Amino acid sequence: MDTPEPSLEDTAIFTTTITIAPKVLLVDDDEIVIEYLKPMVEAAGFEVLTATSGEAALKGLAENFAPIVILDRNMPGMDGLEVTRAIRANIFPGYVYVMLLTVQDGEEDILAGLGAGADDYLSKRASSAQLIARLRTAQRILSLEHSLKNMVEERRRLAMTDALTGAHNRRYFLRHGGREVRRVQRFGGALSLLALDIDFFKSINDRFGHASGDLVLIEVVKRISQGLPRASDWCARLGGEEFAVVLPETDLAGAALVAERLRGSIAAKPVQLKTGNKVPVSVSIGVGGLQALGNPKAASIESLLAMADDCLYRSKADGRNRVTVAKSAAPLAKPAHG
Ligand code: GH3
Ligand code: MG
Ligand code: MG
Repeated sequence: MDTPEPSLEDTAIFTTTITIAPKVLLVDDDEIVIEYLKPMVEAAGFEVLTATSGEAALKGLAENFAPIVILDRNMPGMDGLEVTRAIRANIFPGYVYVMLLTVQDGEEDILAGLGAGADDYLSKRASSAQLIARLRTAQRILSLEHSLKNMVEERRRLAMTDALTGAHNRRYFLRHGGREVRRVQRFGGALSLLALDIDFFKSINDRFGHASGDLVLIEVVKRISQGLPRASDWCARLGGEEFAVVLPETDLAGAALVAERLRGSIAAKPVQLKTGNKVPVSVSIGVGGLQALGNPKAASIESLLAMADDCLYRSKADGRNRVTVAKSAAPLAKPAHG
């Protein structure tokens, strides 16, 4: 199935820039400067944190992040340029907008400050109105960064989500399923996988129409989700009317129980259509797991799915609306002593 690419209009970055009222970290070795600037910045609606050395500023940023730093250029120990370089070399929860504040405002100083990675450079002689205006610029840029990040995150989520049912899609399944397999290969434990396929789905479409078929898909995802109370278990729509359920820390016996519970709850009642029609629905399920593979170290999410699929086709051949579980591999022979 194809998940449509979200358009720029969907995320509307250009119309709804998120406004954040960021924290400001004020750094100056001169407490008088801090006492003078702090109320000014606070009056403009910012929360102000303070530090009286470059070292304390970096420590403060790591412990209590502030996206705007007003930084004195000249301080004993680490000076403003060194702190700016250290900020740029570090990873913080978000972009740090650095404003260097100094009495020296010759061209060379300004270039050195911007070269070190500062975003703005402000003379200590500048008016409070100018300081606040520049803080508003910082706020605007940071809000834009925030919106862009949200948009990227939203696009990533949509790219891994099935548009019809809201379930994870095949891409998510391969990526996160692969991760689950590698985790077990590294740290040990169990991992099982169910492959589900709706029975006679084509005839549901043929009889009730494609829109009703879609409704049945949505309802089946709902019933699967309701049947998976454990937060670590998850479901993906692999395509058409085929689904996978990933069960971390679950052996084949446990997975068989989950499969039987899902099968029962899906078949328990027909899907009610808006037209008043009731559509009987059932799924066939195959259960695979690392336990059933001769060599779990060589397993992949694809090989687990192939195993569950083989079992699923056995369920179809045996009459549908049933569960088939892969056979546990013989345990590796213990090395003989002696
Ligand atoms: P079986 O019991 O053997 O699984 O039979 P089936 O009819 O379920 O299997 P088959 O694979 O022949 O049919 C699957 C159908 O699913 C055919 C296709 O038109 C339909 N289908 C796939 N994707 C969608 C969808 O997004 N919406 C709807 N309504 N139907 C879909
Ligand atoms: Mg089917
Ligand atoms: Mg099918």
